[in-house]
Amino acid sequence: MIFLVLLGAPGAGKGTQAAILSERLDIPHVATGDLFRAAVRERSAVGLEARRYMERGQLVPDEITVQMLLERLAQADAGEGVILDGFPRTPAQAVALDTALAEHDARVDHALEIQVPFEELVRRMSGRWICAENGHVYNEVSHPPRVAGRCDLDDSPLLQRDDDKAETIRARLDLQLGALAEVSRHYDERGVLRTVDGRGSIEQVADDLLAAIGPVTRGAA
Ligand code: AMP
Repeated sequence: MIFLVLLGAPGAGKGTQAAILSERLDIPHVATGDLFRAAVRERSAVGLEARRYMERGQLVPDEITVQMLLERLAQADAGEGVILDGFPRTPAQAVALDTALAEHDARVDHALEIQVPFEELVRRMSGRWICAENGHVYNEVSHPPRVAGRCDLDDSPLLQRDDDKAETIRARLDLQLGALAEVSRHYDERGVLRTVDGRGSIEQVADDLLAAIGPVTRGAA
C-alpha cells in the first residue's frame, strides 16, 4: 500500500506527473478536479453544486469535496493505494484525509510538491486546452496538438475550460497558493514532504519525483 499526495499550484504539472507515476507504480490516479468534471457532465447533485464554484475559479466547499473523495477511495481499485492529484487543497481536507486513512491503519506516505514560479504558472495556464470527449490536456507552448483545435487521441474538439480563461487564472492562483502553503506545512510537520523543481522536462520532473519516493515495495504494509 502506498499513498501519495501530489501538491502544486494549478498549472504546476500535477495531472501530467500523476498519470506517469500511476503507470510506473501501477496504482490509480485520483484527481478531484476530474471527479468534479465528471459529476458536472452527469448533472448529479454534487456536479450541479460544484459547478457554481468551479466556474468562478473558487474551491468547492470542503464538506462536498471530502465526501466525494472518500467515496472514490472506497472503491476496490484504490486498495493498493492511490496518487492524489488536486487533493488536499486546504488544511481541513488534509486533516479529513489523515483521519479517514488512520481508520484503515494507513497514512499519507509521501507528499510531493512540484514547485513552479508564479509567472511561469500564469503563462502555462493561459495556453491550456482540454478535449471535449475525455479531458486529454494540451498546451499551446509545451504540448500542442498535431492538428490545431482537435484532440490527437480521440479527434474531439479542444476547449478552454471556463476556469482556465485569463481573467480567472490570477484569482485562482491567489486563492490557492495561500492554502497550498498551509497544506505543504501540514505534511512537512509530519516529515513526509518532498519538494521537486517543476521547471525541468516532463521526464526530468518524473524522475525527480520517483527518486524522492525511493524504492517502493508493492503489497507491503
Ligand atoms: P483542477 O482540475 O484540479 O484544477 O480542479 C478544477 C476545479 O475543481 C477547481 O478549480 C475547484 O473548483 C474544484 N476542485 C478540485 N479539487 C478540489 C479540492 N480538493 N477542493 C476544492 N475544490 C476542488
